[in-house]
Amino acid sequence: MFRNFKIVPNIVFGRGCFGQLDDILSVRRSSRNSYMVFLVDDVFEDKSLRERIPLKGRDLLLWVNVDDEPKTKYVDELTAKVKQYDKNLPEGVIGIGGGSTMDLAKAVSLMLTNPGSSAEYQGWDLIRNPAVYHAAVPTLSGTGAEVSRTTVLTGPEKKLGLNSDYTVFDQIVLDPEMTDGVPADQRFYTGMDCFIHCIESLTGTYLNAFSRAYGEKANDLCLEVFMEEGPESADKLMMASYFGGMSIAYSQVGVCHALSYGLSFVLGIHHGIGNSIAFDYLEEFYPQGVTRFRQMMDKQNIELPRKIMKDVRDDQLEKMIDVSLILEPLWENALGKAWKQKMTRQRIKELYLRM
Ligand code: NAD
Ligand code: ZN
Repeated sequence: MFRNFKIVPNIVFGRGCFGQLDDILSVRRSSRNSYMVFLVDDVFEDKSLRERIPLKGRDLLLWVNVDDEPKTKYVDELTAKVKQYDKNLPEGVIGIGGGSTMDLAKAVSLMLTNPGSSAEYQGWDLIRNPAVYHAAVPTLSGTGAEVSRTTVLTGPEKKLGLNSDYTVFDQIVLDPEMTDGVPADQRFYTGMDCFIHCIESLTGTYLNAFSRAYGEKANDLCLEVFMEEGPESADKLMMASYFGGMSIAYSQVGVCHALSYGLSFVLGIHHGIGNSIAFDYLEEFYPQGVTRFRQMMDKQNIELPRKIMKDVRDDQLEKMIDVSLILEPLWENALGKAWKQKMTRQRIKELYLRM
């Protein structure tokens, strides 16, 4: 069976296009009593962006905190807040922020129409009902969360997305100016998430011409951005993120992401930095990619955290291995159908202990 995959139907791109969000949403507003929910990264609470959010009438603005990556519990709390605000559903949920905020917006839009806790839907195609209309404005480029069919959540048992066709945004607003204030190290780590998506897709066993087309272009854009900075770097990185996301949508990520999920679940290390930490030790799987990665790291003067395992207990290490082993499609993409013979618990442990 070939995957019949859903993509974002509406996209605007360009410097300043955030100003068009008001118009885009206005056609969805049906009555004076209806409302939209804006989930906005609280890093903008005291920034000028605050004044530019196109709030109308009864709209609900929720500042979200992403010091921790999104948890199912937080999604459930935010969903409850919206339900308390009004017994009727909002006409839209709009996420403004990086991958974490976009994932929160996706998850809340799904949980408003699906009963129970978001933890019950961590997996593939468990969501039953379509989400509320949802849109995103990325303020950080690299994750591809703006195009993907998942919202990655950390639950009581595992870090795993709510993967479904309903998860995909209805609208994205790609305005490179929104990424202007991102700190350089954060820009690098989230940018490397994109680069690693490309490497894992382009070297995986699931690769096909569709994924290759997107992955190669995103890979080239990342190299341009981080090796030869220019006036269009923010625009390029935003498109790299989109293309990288499209590449993995029709293939998969690999070893680095599987290990990074374990780091994030047990140690709370954020996705981009966790990927970068892990990737630097994966030369045997991705020799060319790791060489390029180190060149970009040098050029950008980035110092990776080292010896992160020094105080890790055995039970924590075992949990990391459990979390990474749940991600079977990632291992299969990286190592082929017989991956279980190649990647044992012991081998994963050795990889972690290098970090
Ligand atoms: P993030 O959203 O976690 O944000 C990182 C930091 O940057 C935060 O402190 C945030 O406040 C800050 N920030 C964001 N925009 C800023 C701006 N314009 N100026 C200044 N600071 C800004 O970072 P991320 O790397 O974009 O996202 C990581 C998350 O995305 C993880 O939770 C990961 O699991 C998820 N993810 C999701 C997908 C998907 O397909 N859904 C794919 C990859 C990663
Ligand atoms: Zn990623």
